[in-house]
Amino acid sequence: TVVTRFAPSPTGYLHVGGARTALYSWLYAKSQGGKFVLRIEDTDLERSTPEAIEAILEGMNWLGLNHDEGPYYQTKRFDRYKDYIQQMLEAGTAYKCYCSRERLDALREQQMAEGKKPKYDGKCRHHAPEQDGDFVVRFKNPEQGSVIINDHIRGRIEISNNELDDLIIQRSDGSPTYNFCVVIDDWEMGITHVIRGEDHINNTPRQINILEALGAPIPDYAHVSMILGDDGKKLSKRHGAVSVMQYRDDGFLPQALLNYLVRLGWSHGDQEIFSLEEMINLFSLDAIGQSASAFNTDKLIWLNQHYIKTMPAGEVAEHAKWHFEQQGIDLSQGPALESVIAIQAERVKTLKELAEVSRYFYEEFADFEEKSAKSHLRPVAAEPLTLVKQKLAALTSWDAESIHAAINATADELQIGMGKVGMPLRVATTGGGNSPSLDVTLALLSQAQVEQRIDKALT
Ligand code: GLU
Repeated sequence: TVVTRFAPSPTGYLHVGGARTALYSWLYAKSQGGKFVLRIEDTDLERSTPEAIEAILEGMNWLGLNHDEGPYYQTKRFDRYKDYIQQMLEAGTAYKCYCSRERLDALREQQMAEGKKPKYDGKCRHHAPEQDGDFVVRFKNPEQGSVIINDHIRGRIEISNNELDDLIIQRSDGSPTYNFCVVIDDWEMGITHVIRGEDHINNTPRQINILEALGAPIPDYAHVSMILGDDGKKLSKRHGAVSVMQYRDDGFLPQALLNYLVRLGWSHGDQEIFSLEEMINLFSLDAIGQSASAFNTDKLIWLNQHYIKTMPAGEVAEHAKWHFEQQGIDLSQGPALESVIAIQAERVKTLKELAEVSRYFYEEFADFEEKSAKSHLRPVAAEPLTLVKQKLAALTSWDAESIHAAINATADELQIGMGKVGMPLRVATTGGGNSPSLDVTLALLSQAQVEQRIDKALT
């Protein structure tokens, strides 16, 4: 069975690039009825933090990219790495290197001066009697032949072994190095498909050689291209939000972000909208594009609007609730959030905006929005407001249809246009000039609330 993994280094938040790689791995596992493993690569003790681990788990959870196994932590697996290094020393596929820093530095300088790529010269590989003192352990990279990778995205890649160094797999302090941990983990966790960022492509031939030396199966590889900003440079903070949780904070639905990310580099004809189920059914590694993709915030916003409009209001509410809380709006003081979503969905781009423009359903406002008040409320509107208030107060059934009729009747009676009643009423009851259709809006407020608000506007 297929086993994929997402293996972030916890040195910061979950980046949208990482999230896309995670999504591809997750989708591929799901599409094959396989397993998705989460592995935290926290061996860099100086740069890894518990906060970053938390942030990654939170981001994955918010996106719904649940793992079937893990999270594994590399720092908890040091003993295993050491066992394998010991085995390799015994098998002669690795060796202790006692070369001093000074010697290596000098070697490097000399090679650079000769215009060569710096590479360990193999001094200890060929004749290294056991010695006292500090040593690192190096992998005995094959000297002949080449490594061939049939990458699902990048195609056939061939690297000659004489370009590869004898990689250090254990530092002089006894700790295993990054590439070695990855190899052991991918093997022990039964990873069949390594889907990761293109920035790791140089590690792949080294990892394959170590896997071969261990007699381990070689997984398939798919190296995903980078995400660029609108200026063609690698996407970074300079371009705006890059953290997944920032998108949550900004009011995006996880469904929209997932849909956006899956299309950023992968395609199925010209289809733009994919439910999670469709993504799983249609996803294939071979349909991932080779070229880097540029992040397009407008398109993400378009998708977010699409999902806000088309998802069941109850589901949107689950995500929107948090934004109301964030903005200090007490949802117990007004209509069911679903009914507000039903009338606001067409009008907002984000859930954050939804909360911002829906405050008047849940609390009284202190002031009218100045411009709207100036044009619609003062000093002209006393007459229509007074009459419409009477008519609204007289309603025995408080629903959109009756409210609509009351507003109509007011305009008729005063022989003025609907707008001359509607706009003052809108500003009086919502505080501003922007709200969904008044009948449905007022129906979500209580009759008493509407009367009180009109009274307040009249004073
Ligand atoms: N830990 C690596 C990173 O965060 C990923 C390694 C891998 O996928 O092999 O970039």
